[in-house]
Amino acid sequence: DISGTSTGLSYEDLQQILLDTPQEKKIREWSQYYTAGPHLAGQNRSLATWTQELWQGFGIADSRVVAYDTYLNYPLGHRLALLEKGKETAEDPPNTPKTSDEWTVKFEATLEEDVLDEDSSTGLPDRIPTFHGYSANGNVTAPYVFVNYGTYQDFEDLQKAGIPLEGKIALAKYGAIFRGLKLKRASEFGMIGAVLYSDPGDDGEVTEKNGYKSYPEGPARHPSSVQRGSTQFLSVAPGDPTTPGYPSKPGVPRQPVDGAIPSIPSLPISYQEALPLLEALNGHGPNASSFPSHWQTGGLDYKGINYNIGPSPDGLVLNLVNEQNYTITPQWDVIGIINGTSQDEVVIMGNHRDAWIAGGAGDPNSGSAALNEVARSFGVALKKGWKPRRTIVLASWDGEEYGLIGSTEWVEEYLAWLNASAVAYLNVDVGTRGPEFDVAAAPLLNRAIIETTKLVQSPNQTIANQSVYDIWLSRKPASIPPMNSSTPRIRTMGSGSDFTAFQDHAGIPCVDLGFSANSESAVYHYHSNYDSFYWMDKYGDPGWHYHVTAAKIWGLLAVKLAEEPLISFSAEDYATGLDLYLDQVQAKADDLNVEFSFEQLRSAISKLYEASSKLDAIAASLSSELARDDIPLFQRTSLLRKAKKVNKKYQYLERAFLYPDGLDSRPWFKHVVFAPGLWTGYAGATYPGLVEALDAGNSTNAKRWESIITDLVNDATRLVQA
Ligand code: GLU
Ligand code: CA
Ligand code: ZN
Ligand code: ZN
Repeated sequence: DISGTSTGLSYEDLQQILLDTPQEKKIREWSQYYTAGPHLAGQNRSLATWTQELWQGFGIADSRVVAYDTYLNYPLGHRLALLEKGKETAEDPPNTPKTSDEWTVKFEATLEEDVLDEDSSTGLPDRIPTFHGYSANGNVTAPYVFVNYGTYQDFEDLQKAGIPLEGKIALAKYGAIFRGLKLKRASEFGMIGAVLYSDPGDDGEVTEKNGYKSYPEGPARHPSSVQRGSTQFLSVAPGDPTTPGYPSKPGVPRQPVDGAIPSIPSLPISYQEALPLLEALNGHGPNASSFPSHWQTGGLDYKGINYNIGPSPDGLVLNLVNEQNYTITPQWDVIGIINGTSQDEVVIMGNHRDAWIAGGAGDPNSGSAALNEVARSFGVALKKGWKPRRTIVLASWDGEEYGLIGSTEWVEEYLAWLNASAVAYLNVDVGTRGPEFDVAAAPLLNRAIIETTKLVQSPNQTIANQSVYDIWLSRKPASIPPMNSSTPRIRTMGSGSDFTAFQDHAGIPCVDLGFSANSESAVYHYHSNYDSFYWMDKYGDPGWHYHVTAAKIWGLLAVKLAEEPLISFSAEDYATGLDLYLDQVQAKADDLNVEFSFEQLRSAISKLYEASSKLDAIAASLSSELARDDIPLFQRTSLLRKAKKVNKKYQYLERAFLYPDGLDSRPWFKHVVFAPGLWTGYAGATYPGLVEALDAGNSTNAKRWESIITDLVNDATRLVQA
């Protein structure tokens, strides 16, 4: 047999299996299983084994558990209290005034989420405390300052207003950026602790203030919900912070963690427990309403909160205690392999399995349940004799929540093999938390995604037979290129999930997809006990249709990339993207009043565009010739040989944008086109090296980056032309 052919099943039959197999009942069952108890990173061995055996049972015989020894923390204790000086309390005996330097507890936070009768996973005896991954141990007592979202800009605004930050504790809202970066900036200003809370002002329309009942009676946020989460710095490198760039195998040397994780203690709290803290700031320091508009989004005004910035007045301080056990512990990835006839071409699909809470019905187990249905569908096809053209790898990652650990360590371990063989990585993290299809992707994959979503019926049809694509396009037309308004919006890759090492370290084109919430959806209790099976069943995806739809799209996209004789990439879209991202950099340079023409880079990109158009045209013609069933075998063999040559170009095109020295301040990030924003974390930056040089006002370095990128674009052109 010829290497690189799909055997045993027609492509159409395979697609039909992937559309027909996933079932609501099954996916609900997988979700229920994963969410039945705590499965924190490194503490879910039985779920790893269960997943492995499940996949084997489906017919993916080569399913194994891969372990890494990683450095992380588990919670021991915590306290958050508002202390007041010289005030009498109800418990004091009468006529015993406090001396002026005695402290009393004005408010002691429970740091607990309410147990709900309806939702059994909220009351498990072994439920996971509220804490931050990679938070620093500490016991600090100090005045505190409301720092809004704690973004880079927010801290600039505070500086400008002359608010003292040094030696204070930051009280920040969640949102806008990755939480670890809030702590990073706070500590750079000498702040000594941080408290992060979930303000309902960021919950859209569905709030108690607007008359909605809170969970479980209604769709609004439960006032006691707490967002756990990692506070690693991410912008340095994801993965085990003690092994940047190499796998955390037992016994490896470990690097100091300074600069990769916070040095100041922090705690996450609910808005219910933030209220007394915010209220105590009323009347102290400037009001957020006198600050720029991004300061004016707080939603607790109806509770008497004025959003004063502080600092808290004399005689009013916070005591923040964070006790963490730092340890080195195994983590377990489950890797399932379906060998293709062409084993030097590999499509990888992954989702993480670990959760911050017992539930995690949205994050991550809506994706995990979908992955199992994809695996089961592949199993049905395998039993019918299918052998894919390209190898397909399924991954159930551990340790995503602390810092993308399971995926990053695996990429670091298999980097040479991935470099030679990977075609694409398809990530699903939260597969379902609402009805809005949402995608981020490398431009090479845009068209494959669009074509795939046209094959799948949408669960919410306003007109019969509407596909996911139809609804997606009507809800989210692209406002920014590379696509135009006749195509749906596809975001650029940032970070915050397991695609990061694939895209930014290994140069593998990635997609991250799922159904997200909109402003009318029930509030998703991210990283809270209320991201539970009960919530999902009642509010998130009653009927489980979106779960099933996510499984269909994911499976179909994987086989589109694994089965079609020509890898279904668009090189032209990449070149178009590069040009349009440069427009944004140009606008930035203009803003900064930097004279910059980018002529070199522009002309390199236009050459890449020409070469890419030609490559795509050759691919299209080979593809249509191979689709004919009347061609003799010898001719077919020669066409396949030509296809292989084209495929190698597609396969290595993303890799061409890796710069071995990496970005200036974070060398682990090798991609010169995509990186997480240095101060956003989640949101992506394009041409990060160049943009950061411009931001720093360093035009010599910006020129250097323009040359680096230009050289790589020229390399890409040579690859595409060869
Ligand atoms: N997805 C997790 C979060 O957003 C982990 C992200 C990370 O550590 O990079 O909290
Ligand atoms: Ca590592
Ligand atoms: Zn997740
Ligand atoms: Zn998460």
